[in-house]
This record gives sequence, C-alpha cells and structure tokens, in this order.
Amino acid sequence: MLKSRLYELSLFLTAVAIAFSSSEILADNTSFITAIIVFWFFSTLYFRLRVFYKNGNTNIEYGISYDLSFVLFAGPLGLFILETIYRFTVYFYRKWKKIADPNEFFDTFYNIGTFVITNSFVYFLFQHFHSSFQSFPFGYWVLLFILVCISSYISGAIMVLLFGTIGESITFKEGIHFIFKDISFLDYGKVAITNGLLFLFLQEGKWEMIISLFILNYIVNLSFYSKSQSIQNKLERDQFEQMAYTDFLTGVFNRTFMDKKMEELNQTSEKIGIVVADIDKFKRINDSYNHAVGDKVIQHFAATLKGYLSEDDYLFRSGGEEFTLCLRKRDFSETADLINSILRGVEKNSVEVEYNGEKTSIFYTASFGLYFYKINELTSIEKAYIQADELMLQSKQRGKNQVSMVNGLITKELV
Ligand code: GH3
Ligand code: MG
Ligand code: MG
Repeated sequence: MLKSRLYELSLFLTAVAIAFSSSEILADNTSFITAIIVFWFFSTLYFRLRVFYKNGNTNIEYGISYDLSFVLFAGPLGLFILETIYRFTVYFYRKWKKIADPNEFFDTFYNIGTFVITNSFVYFLFQHFHSSFQSFPFGYWVLLFILVCISSYISGAIMVLLFGTIGESITFKEGIHFIFKDISFLDYGKVAITNGLLFLFLQEGKWEMIISLFILNYIVNLSFYSKSQSIQNKLERDQFEQMAYTDFLTGVFNRTFMDKKMEELNQTSEKIGIVVADIDKFKRINDSYNHAVGDKVIQHFAATLKGYLSEDDYLFRSGGEEFTLCLRKRDFSETADLINSILRGVEKNSVEVEYNGEKTSIFYTASFGLYFYKINELTSIEKAYIQADELMLQSKQRGKNQVSMVNGLITKELV
C-alpha cells in the first residue's frame, strides 16, 4: 500500500516538475480563463458518462479526454491547472455524495500525474513534429492520431506499473495486452478528431464552436450511454426471467412457466397433444439408493424426453418425477407414435450412476397419458392437462410402463 502511495505521489510530483519547468501558460489570460471554465465544466459534466472497468481493486476509466487540445493550447502548466481543478472537483463531489472510493484521494493525485505527464510528453512531440506533418494532406490529423495512440500507450504502461506496486499479479503478457489491445482504434480516432477540432477552434477563439462541439459530444455519448444501460437492464431482466422459469435440477421449464405458456396457448386454436409422463416406482429408486441417485434419474428422464422433442414442443417439470409435454404441429397418429417411441426409449436405456463408490446402471420405466385435441373456448389446456394426468394414472393402474391416450378430436367426452 505504502509503495503504491509513493508511486502515485511521485507521479504527481513529476507532473508538478514538468508543469513548472516547461514554460509559462501559452495563451493570453482571458482566453486561458475562458478555456479553463469551459473545459472544466464539460469535463465535469462528462464525468458521469465514463465507463468503469474493474481490474482487481483498481477502477480504470474509459472516457474521452480533452486534455490533448488543452495542453496544445495552454502548455503543460495550463493543463496542470485544469487537471488539478477538474480532478479535485470530481473528488469533492464524490466525497459529498458519499460515493468516493476509499483510495480516491490518492487516485486523484495519480490521475493528475498520469494525465499531465503523458499529455506533456505528446505536447513536446507535437512541437517537434508539427511543421513536418503540416507538409502533407491531413498531416495535422495523422499526427494527432499518432499522439493519441502514444499517450494511451504511456498511460497504459504507467497503469501496469501501478498494478506492480500494489501487488496485483499481472504478467508481462497481460500488461502488453492491457496497454495495446484494450482500447480500440475507433476510440483513438474519436479522441484525435475531437481534440484536433477543439485545438483549431481554441487557436481562433471560436468559443461557440467549442461549446457546440462539447455539447455534440455530450449528447452523442449520453444517448450511447443510456442505450447501453437499457441493453444491460434488459439482459439482466432476461437472465432473471430465465432463472425464474427454469427448473434448477433438470434445466427444463418449471411449473410457473408451464402455467404461463398454457395461458398463451389457450389463445390459439391449434391441435395439440398434452402428455403427462411419470417415472414408475420412483420411490423405490430413492429408497434402494439415495436421493442423489434419484436426482440423477430425474435428470436423465428429462434429458431423454427432451431428446425426442422438436423446437416447437415444450417440456415442463410439473412435479417431482412428473413431466408435462406440449406436442405441437403433429396430427394424432404422429403424436401417438412419438410417445410410443419415447416409452420404448426410456425402457431400453439406463442411467449410469455412482453408488457406494461403484458405477451402476439403473433401468427404469415411465407411464404416459396423452390427450390430443384442438384448443377451443370450451376446453382449456388446463382441463386437457387434467385429462392427460388421469390417463397417466390409468396407465399406472393397468400395470405401468405404457401409454393411455384419447383423441379428443373423435371422442368429445371432455366437453
Ligand atoms: P408410481 O410408480 O406410482 O409413480 O410410484 P412412485 O414411487 O414413482 O411415485 P410416488 O409419488 O409414490 O413417489 C414419488 C417420490 O419422488 C416421492 C418423493 O420423495 C420423490 N421425489 C420428489 N421430488 C424429488 C426430487 O427432486 N428428487 C428425488 N430424488 N426424489 C424426489
Ligand atoms: Mg412415479
Ligand atoms: Mg409422481
């Protein structure tokens, strides 16, 4: 901890040294103060749109920085003044809102240090190469793009060194990856063009253009930010919904989803086969082995049933070892054939389980009830489900391991 504090402070002190040794502020007083106010205001406004990426205990921020244009306009000392005012505004604001991280005070020094050092470095590069790049078309923009890349690589390297001092294990390869790959060239382009325009406008004192550019940037980022927030919210909602509708043991839909789906299907008038399937003598499996083995058999049964279904069908775990199927887009005989093959498939296959340290195969059978009909106002799926359940019980009474079925399109007994 002490090591990283010293590192952060030394970065800050280096920035102070660079700022005060470089030269005086380049711009005249009025322009400088106006620029400070405008840049401070928009940087602070922009702050809440920054995206944070957490690496261990360290927050790394991705957001546009306007520092490059400012350093080109006002020099390292000017940038140091802006950075100090801006970073401490953010720090005190977060402190006041009680959302500041415990390390935030020192991170503020770190941020000022890093941004001033990297931007001062590219400022000197700009001074040196500016005229040679002027000589070819778009040279100014190419140079800015290169400078943005360089400053990003340097601040990446400073960050990797910080990870080293706070003992976050980061390998050389990860470090290189962090420096070079994490930020895209599109982002560099965005920063280069924004800062390039800002610098041109600053030189000519076009304050309306500067403010318009800041506002444009803010609006674009705000809409992007709220879009990404709403996508994130939707993802979380979907995940939550999926969890709420999934049976934990088997991964198939649960009873809650079955009720919801049945309500939806009731609105249609399609032909459907409702099937109730229940493992025979399941209690014996639980008793002769144990509950965990019983669970394995339930999982195997669910997977077997699922294997026979097509995309339009639904499978629900409607009870302990009881499942309900909604078979769609088939006529009665196709549905009956499918259930017969499932019955034979279940009977033929076995589950491999481990019991008392040994591998054992367990054979089991199941009984089925199929009620096939066309959905209508008189017979809801809930009623058809009760019918299918009774048919399943008939299969049990007749000796299990069989299917009982009714074609509701012919026998109207339900209504
Ligand atoms: P039948 O042939 O008539 O269907 O008899 P059965 O033994 O299969 O049916 P019964 O309803 O008598 O017993 C079902 C057992 O399933 C009772 C319950 O303890 C057990 N069970 C319910 N849910 C689970 C579960 O999630 N895991 C396990 N291992 N057992 C369960
Ligand atoms: Mg059973
Ligand atoms: Mg049962």
